[in-house]
Amino acid sequence: MTDLTRLTAAEVADLVASGGTSAVEVTQAHLDRIAAVDDRVNAFLHVDTEGALAAARAVDERRAAGEELGPLAGVPVAVKDVLTTKGVPTTVGSKILEGWRPPYDSTLVQRLRAAGTVMLGKTNMDEFAMGSSTEYSAYGPTHNPWDLSRIPGGSGGGSAAALAAYEAPLAIGSDTGGSIRQPGAVTGTVGAKPTYGGTSRYGLVAFSSSLDTPGPCARTVLDAALLHQVIGGHDPRDSTSIPQPVPDVVGAAKLGATGDLTGVKLGVVTEFTGEGAEPGVMAAFRESVEALAKLGAEIVEVSCPHFKYALPAYYLIAPSECSSNLARFDGVRFGLRTGDDGNRSLEEVMSLTREAGFGPEVKRRIMIGTYALSSGYYDAYYGQAQKVRTLITRDFTSAFEQVDALISPTTPFVAFPIGARTSDPYQMYLADLFTIPTNLYGGPAISVPCGLSDGLPVGLQIMAPTMADDRMYRVAAALESTVGTFTPPAL
Ligand code: GLN
Repeated sequence: MTDLTRLTAAEVADLVASGGTSAVEVTQAHLDRIAAVDDRVNAFLHVDTEGALAAARAVDERRAAGEELGPLAGVPVAVKDVLTTKGVPTTVGSKILEGWRPPYDSTLVQRLRAAGTVMLGKTNMDEFAMGSSTEYSAYGPTHNPWDLSRIPGGSGGGSAAALAAYEAPLAIGSDTGGSIRQPGAVTGTVGAKPTYGGTSRYGLVAFSSSLDTPGPCARTVLDAALLHQVIGGHDPRDSTSIPQPVPDVVGAAKLGATGDLTGVKLGVVTEFTGEGAEPGVMAAFRESVEALAKLGAEIVEVSCPHFKYALPAYYLIAPSECSSNLARFDGVRFGLRTGDDGNRSLEEVMSLTREAGFGPEVKRRIMIGTYALSSGYYDAYYGQAQKVRTLITRDFTSAFEQVDALISPTTPFVAFPIGARTSDPYQMYLADLFTIPTNLYGGPAISVPCGLSDGLPVGLQIMAPTMADDRMYRVAAALESTVGTFTPPAL
């Protein structure tokens, strides 16, 4: 009998549509898999067994009634715990939201439900999506299915690990500085950050509003594109949502799968010299560049002189926005309240709640952001970082006058051992070297598995112009058609 957990999302959808299996069977197979492995992986913070089975039954009933099903109907999906889910716990990996059951669904979750996908549960993440390893979750780290002693990337490590461990064929992540792409890279899965504003932030718990972008995670490029199509597109409830249709990402993934990149010009960023990256990662990257050239792509070098300032600019802008966004967690409106014994002032209760509810990385960011925004320092730090952001955007604009897309490794290193970088925040921030420029610019980027180094997955990143998300899918699918997909050792 086919192991339903090993199929791609496209295969599951076809099987459900043709009556070869039922949505309930598929869902149960994934729930069983979660029960079998998740005590070791810790990908899920909450499994919604009843909700999932009810959603699956509804799909089966619609099919039995002869209704037309969407392209992903009956396919299970795991959702990063940063998106609100009506009546289902949403913690953002933080103690401060422990026990909070939102009264509404985020737009993405609404669209997932409307498409007939089956939400299995909520996945683990670094607290408030701040981190690159999922070790900053208040609920314990997620373990990489390739090697349980290593990190699954972050902040959306739970979503990527759920895919690699065959607990779900699809997942949702959010990417502020790389949190979809990095976990994809180090778990051998695909992660796509759409154009900023191409997916709705309504119901996405805000970290850095000018950067946050929810997007699809999957084991194949086509599956990611199918999910992108379902979740993307204009949302009047998000003022930064782009009022344009989703680019034809599914068509582009299918075109790319033919393995022909004739006429496509790809740029390797001169300033990404490999300094600070592992030799094994750079070797896998270089081999993939050759593979892309063999498929017909023209490869040139492109200079982006301001990319080297992306990391410091991001680590001022993101904490600044977070210091403002996280002010709402005051012990009054949501979740945790500490010290409210009837004798303490509101301010004392707020302070005790925030002291108890936030972890050290979140506190560090709130302090950096508050400092950078304070009068007297604003121009020197936040204002300056915004100017750098403009220069980085200009680098991208000029690069895309020369090439169709830029390529780089996704992460400078493969999955590192749990605990290896937590003692020095700067070491953790370095994981974002290649992913952050795209967020500052607002364009789309995808990570696709491109090889192994020391037996661990390496990802290749493709960065495209804003609203040209289809382009990155074409290149990613072409690469996948030649290097294949990567399967971790059995759990
Ligand atoms: N690692 C980056 C950070 O810690 C990016 C996180 C993200 O994309 N959510 O801020």
